[in-house]
Amino acid sequence: MHAEKVIIEIPSQALHLEHAYCPDGHSLMDPTVPINGYPSIKVLLRYGETEGVVHLDPVYGSFHNIFDVDIPDDVIVSMFCPTCHTSMQLDDGRVCDWCFSPLFQFYLPNGGLLEGCLKVGCHQHKLKLVDIDAQLGMVHGHDEIQLLM
Ligand SMILES: [Zn+2]
Ligand SMILES: [Zn+2]
Repeated sequence: MHAEKVIIEIPSQALHLEHAYCPDGHSLMDPTVPINGYPSIKVLLRYGETEGVVHLDPVYGSFHNIFDVDIPDDVIVSMFCPTCHTSMQLDDGRVCDWCFSPLFQFYLPNGGLLEGCLKVGCHQHKLKLVDIDAQLGMVHGHDEIQLLM
């Protein structure tokens, strides 16, 4: 697929992810642990010998993440799919624009991608959508743009 990827800028907290997948297609959404009223994104994090489940805030630009493990701030973690344990880390050599740490990647429907920084406490995120009109339902209402994915 050679479709052009577009980075769009969306006001913080105007959008939430409804679907995110590991590279093997397992859903990462966990409706049993809502954050900000939406199903959270469940991943495994590992730092040194410590490994545990973390629920990520599905609201873009919001970081009310729930850590079931004690991982200090400012360390670089590894992230895995909780179902198949596939690494979520990008392997193309790109790093965070801000702190130069490795990046993780969530797969979204229709070729979209969400990239984020693997350094705990660094909140660099980029949403990449192939076809904004088709993927971003842009349902305005209640001051919220809902990502219809
Ligand atoms: Zn998986
Ligand atoms: Zn970073």
